[in-house]
Amino acid sequence: MFNLTYAFAEGNKDLRDILGGKGANLSEMTNLGLPVPQGFVVSTVACRAYLKAHELTDDLVTEIRSRVSDLETVTGKTFGHGADPLLVSVRSGAKFSMPGMMDTILNLGLNDVTVQRVAQRTENLAFAYGSYRRLIQMFGNVVFEIDIKDFNEASHKVENVRGYGSANFTRQDWLLVIEQYKQVFQAQAGQEFPQDVYDQLFIAVEAVFKSWDNDRAKVYRQLHNIPDDLGTAVNIQQMVFGNYSKDSGTGVMFTRNPATGAPGLFGEYLSQAQGEDIVSGARTPDPIANLEASKPQVYQQLKTIAEKLEKHYQDMQDVEFTVEDNHLYMLQTRNGKRTPNAAVNIAYDLYEEKLISAQEMISRIEPGMIEQLLHPSFLASDLAKHDSIASGLPASPGAATGEVIFTAQGAKVAAEKGHHVVLLRNETSPEDIVGMTVSEAVVTSRGGMTSHAAVVARGMGTCCVVGCQDLQVDEAGAVAHYAGGVLKEGDIISVDGTNGKIYLGTIKTTAGSVSDKLNKILAVCDKYARLQVFGNGETVKDIREAIVKGARGIGLARTEHMFFQPDRLKAMRQLILAENDADITSTLAYIKGEQKGDFVAMFETLLDKPCTIRLLDPPLHEFLPTKEADLQQLAQSIHKDYNWVAAKAAALREVNPMLGLRGVRLAVTLPQIYQMQVEAIIEAAILVSEAHQVNIIPEIMIPLIGVTPELEMAKKLCVDAAEGIFEKTGKRLDYKVGTMIEMPRACLIADELAQDADFFSFGTNDLTQLTFGYSRDDAHKFLPTYLEDHLLPNDPFQVLDTKGVGALMNMAATKGKAANPKLKVGVCGEVGGNAESIEFINTLPVDYVSCSPFRVPQARLICAQTQLRQEAEKNGVEYKASSVTA
Ligand code: ADP
Ligand code: MG
Ligand code: MG
Repeated sequence: MFNLTYAFAEGNKDLRDILGGKGANLSEMTNLGLPVPQGFVVSTVACRAYLKAHELTDDLVTEIRSRVSDLETVTGKTFGHGADPLLVSVRSGAKFSMPGMMDTILNLGLNDVTVQRVAQRTENLAFAYGSYRRLIQMFGNVVFEIDIKDFNEASHKVENVRGYGSANFTRQDWLLVIEQYKQVFQAQAGQEFPQDVYDQLFIAVEAVFKSWDNDRAKVYRQLHNIPDDLGTAVNIQQMVFGNYSKDSGTGVMFTRNPATGAPGLFGEYLSQAQGEDIVSGARTPDPIANLEASKPQVYQQLKTIAEKLEKHYQDMQDVEFTVEDNHLYMLQTRNGKRTPNAAVNIAYDLYEEKLISAQEMISRIEPGMIEQLLHPSFLASDLAKHDSIASGLPASPGAATGEVIFTAQGAKVAAEKGHHVVLLRNETSPEDIVGMTVSEAVVTSRGGMTSHAAVVARGMGTCCVVGCQDLQVDEAGAVAHYAGGVLKEGDIISVDGTNGKIYLGTIKTTAGSVSDKLNKILAVCDKYARLQVFGNGETVKDIREAIVKGARGIGLARTEHMFFQPDRLKAMRQLILAENDADITSTLAYIKGEQKGDFVAMFETLLDKPCTIRLLDPPLHEFLPTKEADLQQLAQSIHKDYNWVAAKAAALREVNPMLGLRGVRLAVTLPQIYQMQVEAIIEAAILVSEAHQVNIIPEIMIPLIGVTPELEMAKKLCVDAAEGIFEKTGKRLDYKVGTMIEMPRACLIADELAQDADFFSFGTNDLTQLTFGYSRDDAHKFLPTYLEDHLLPNDPFQVLDTKGVGALMNMAATKGKAANPKLKVGVCGEVGGNAESIEFINTLPVDYVSCSPFRVPQARLICAQTQLRQEAEKNGVEYKASSVTA
């Protein structure tokens, strides 16, 4: 006979859809035998009906009356009359906790008559009338939006006239206060405060229903992707009184510390108080721990209940309770919000305590939490004191402070003097890498999320904001203008790469790191993941970082990054400008020595962990300067004629360098470079293998293969170079030769390529660029509009395009493995650490992903979660991901 309402005893925690979160959990606690004041829930079904009809239906009114009468029976109290009047709270409660919804009304059921009965029965004037005063105030505030201050003033007026506080009010004083409150109410609500308790109740229920559609709630829903048609439930619950006596009070508590995750009750208790007094800040509450001494029994009971709830919900709980005359009552429980740090610690502790399984533990960590834990961030208290002067795209997260420098060279000089530097430029180019490496943060006024600055900074884990159009950067003049001011070289700014904001001055930061417990969780992740995670990196620093963060090895070492140090850059330039074989041979010998040193350092850091080294990839002209002054200097330093150097540089310049002389094409036109690199790799591997008694198997990777003969030729070049070393040294070792798959054509002929390759590695950046025909360097000019107009769901350079690029990858991996069952297949590039992309990659015949060291921990988590989710889906089970971060 009841369709629209549920007694607490009839519900349970799985009925959130119809009972809302609060009602479902009050029901669950009731069924667990916990001390919950009894009551009932008006369901979201009734709310949805109300929002259509704009009035309470007769059915609902009848049901509510009947539920109240049941409540009278259960409690032995009577609603609106009798010696012991029933008072209730009216509490909103949607499926998802939703600030902006209507607030709670307490003490409903009091009127001019019942208040006297309560006063008589309790022999406590202040309690009875204080509660009545609060009802008028809350009802006025919540239903009619009357300012609470207007009511408070009425109380103060009486106190002032009488010359004493409300603790000493006589009956006459209280009657006067109530009279004043009613006047405030009537003046602003345009109607009298309802004396009929059912009127009070129905008006309150309607107000809760209506609040679903108020502006605040709508905005909140939009921000959090909560559907608009869920509606809210209303809880109607017998009152218990924390304001009843000195042995009464109200509290809020977490079953573990929500900031750190440390076990033990955490929260506050305010004695002689009701409801929201505890959060209003008018009086300072006591730490919950004090209850242990002042109310040992209540404290013990709270502890027992906390344990019971944690066991039952298998998670940390956020609990509200009230003590009435030393009796404890539970008023709310829900999974507690927590910081990322606490989330990690709690998940691991619950797993250790055997409350949750390994799979469940893994599902409790969100990738974003790890990101937040690893990056430094600005201290909130300090951040609040600063206004941002500009903002751009948050290209690489983190928080950093330093002095503004406008050139890479200047950054290097300042950093060498021990200064913290923020490199500020219109955009960056490969020449700026040295300056970027030493900078705390990189800011550019132009460029998008895949511009040079963004890609390189993310790779280095350096905080970076790009496309910061609020800044007019004049690199030559070493100033930048923004609305309201100028930045000069040496000025201190702070950069937030997580939200793209720039601030003046220094803001304190807190550092991030992989904690012990996070490490343990990630080790469990590795057991459940199918995809292995490798890191991208070539410097000892990056490689170490990748290993510390749990990478199985290095999936992509880009050799060109090694050429940008000044002396090598000069040698590279000499090589490019060489006029005869003798010149070529001598510069190559120099570069080889340097490269070999690099590879030795890499192998010594990695030992038996695998390392894939990509041979030189970028167009040669990137190594030559462009400015006249720089060209002049170059000509002088290598004793050549300026005009000749300038002409040569001009000749090398390409209209479309991304599609020009680069990658394997360099080996076709100037085979000595790859030969030199392979020799350096093999010699270094032999050296370190012997010195450290490890079995190093270098993996040599050829970039930009498009036709099979290219790979055949490049492979022969590698084999010949390696054999040459073996012959010369009389030593041998295993090595592998593989190819990047980054051209659509390579995907189409992957079966052919697989016959000559030990491994494939998808370079998703180039593959995306070439599949779409979007130049990575220009895409920022139109991609934002594409995204706005919904022509693309995502930036394909950040989230793998599964339909197009993904289909090519699937084809290539499948064909490749069919033609060569031993073929190892990986994905390197930006998308290797991205959750949505990994989700797709996990469905392909791919063995590993490789991403920047910084993203390795996140990728390990995502790979495990993805595998678990996809397995669960296969078995038709729902895989729940949690969302509890504060
Ligand atoms: P919110 O969703 O804003 O937390 P609640 O409905 O939980 O609102 O109510 C806020 C507070 O009001 C509770 O924490 C509790 O202290 C008090 N409260 C609500 N219902 C009752 C009740 N039946 N008896 C005593 N106090 C209550
Ligand atoms: Mg509240
Ligand atoms: Mg609450």
